[in-house]
Amino acid sequence: MRTQVAIVGAGPAGLLLSQLLYVAGVESVVLERRDQAYVEDRIRAGLLEQGTVALLEKVGVAERMHAEGLIHGGFSLALDGVAHRIDLTGLTGKSVMVYGQTEVTKDLIEACAGRDMPVQFETADVALHDVEGDAPFVTFTREGRAQRLDCDFIAGCDGFHGVSRPSIPEELRRTFERVYPFGWLGILADVPPCHHELIYSNHERGFALASMRSPTRSRYYVQCALDEQIEDWPDERIWDELAIRLGEEAHCAMTRGPSIEKSIAPLRSFVSEPMRHGRLFLAGDAAHIVPPTGAKGLNLAASDVAMLSEAIALHYRSGDRTGLDEYSGRALARVWKAERFSWWFTGLTHRFPDMDPFARKMQVAELEYIFSSKAAQTTLAENYVGLPLA
Ligand SMILES: Cc1cc2nc3c(=O)[nH]c(=O)nc-3n(C[C@H](O)[C@H](O)[C@H](O)COP(=O)(O)OP(=O)(O)OC[C@H]3O[C@@H](n4cnc5c(N)ncnc54)[C@H](O)[C@@H]3O)c2cc1C
Repeated sequence: MRTQVAIVGAGPAGLLLSQLLYVAGVESVVLERRDQAYVEDRIRAGLLEQGTVALLEKVGVAERMHAEGLIHGGFSLALDGVAHRIDLTGLTGKSVMVYGQTEVTKDLIEACAGRDMPVQFETADVALHDVEGDAPFVTFTREGRAQRLDCDFIAGCDGFHGVSRPSIPEELRRTFERVYPFGWLGILADVPPCHHELIYSNHERGFALASMRSPTRSRYYVQCALDEQIEDWPDERIWDELAIRLGEEAHCAMTRGPSIEKSIAPLRSFVSEPMRHGRLFLAGDAAHIVPPTGAKGLNLAASDVAMLSEAIALHYRSGDRTGLDEYSGRALARVWKAERFSWWFTGLTHRFPDMDPFARKMQVAELEYIFSSKAAQTTLAENYVGLPLA
């Protein structure tokens, strides 16, 4: 087989890249290790920046999102149960869209199939070859047959545990990492949300987040220790903890119900530089991870592939390689700003095991400063809604 761009991974990065390339008249093939149902049902992010919404519009897969997604012009930040609204639209003129990653994924997979470029699901043993030369190729096994895909470029969109990042020689890679001493215990339930916008709560018992996927489906999180077992958290215990941490108003409005998904996720900040090696380009979680506090993971995947698709399209249009050469530096400049915001917002809202009374006073003082200062709220809001591509 031959294509112009071989894309490894059918997460948001890989699927959106293939659609952006299609719109620009560039051919691609997406190779995905898992089956379609697994990819579509993977519960993860749920908040889209306006820039991500614009990209989905650009590739013509925004219809269902606009019909079913919820536009949020603000969110609440609570300290020990008392909430203060951050007016995103008033402060920045922008909003965010609540629309689950599961739904974005389904829409993009449907678009691929509709354009007669279906994702190659259940592709095993993917290996990248000759990425430093002019004729890279990918080998893999599918339907019991060893296959080879020749291409001009390879896009490594295969997430944190994929094969693309390790295909860059270790001595050329530099990694930066912060592993947080806690995790998030998430619960998804078919009950109406306790509030029409998200509530991020800093409580002495730990962080909590009230979020949603739709007017009838809620997503809640509580900060938990890394060694917690999900079996020790029956639904009622989670609802009780949320009621305490989110405060009286949210508690009174909260509808409890059986969980349809429950999981514990560790929190990590991670960046691997550079994001390009020869004809291999990394995008999304393959190159960087953020703690979910700032809702940046999926949005960073989208901004990476926006830049990468522009660079590849420019190359095919005019032979100009500037975009390709500048991709890594340009993408990393935005990545680091989102890393900083996610790290800062995590530090502001969580309880750290080694937090002494002074550190707690600093956290409270910073929150109270934000509540009282329009300048501080604007800084928070402009990062939350997403910085420009630059
Ligand atoms: C448990 C969890 C919860 C999260 N919650 C949030 C949240 O609330 N908010 C937020 O903003 N972000 C969240 N994120 C982050 C967000 O979901 C990711 O940033 C986003 O999925 C990144 O997209 P991606 O396409 O780069 O990577 P992925 O979504 O990881 O996609 C990579 C794809 O590559 C495939 N793949 C891997 N290896 C191979 C291989 N060898 N061959 C072929 N295919 C391969 C994988 O199966 C997968 O389909 C969460 C992440 C996790 C893990």
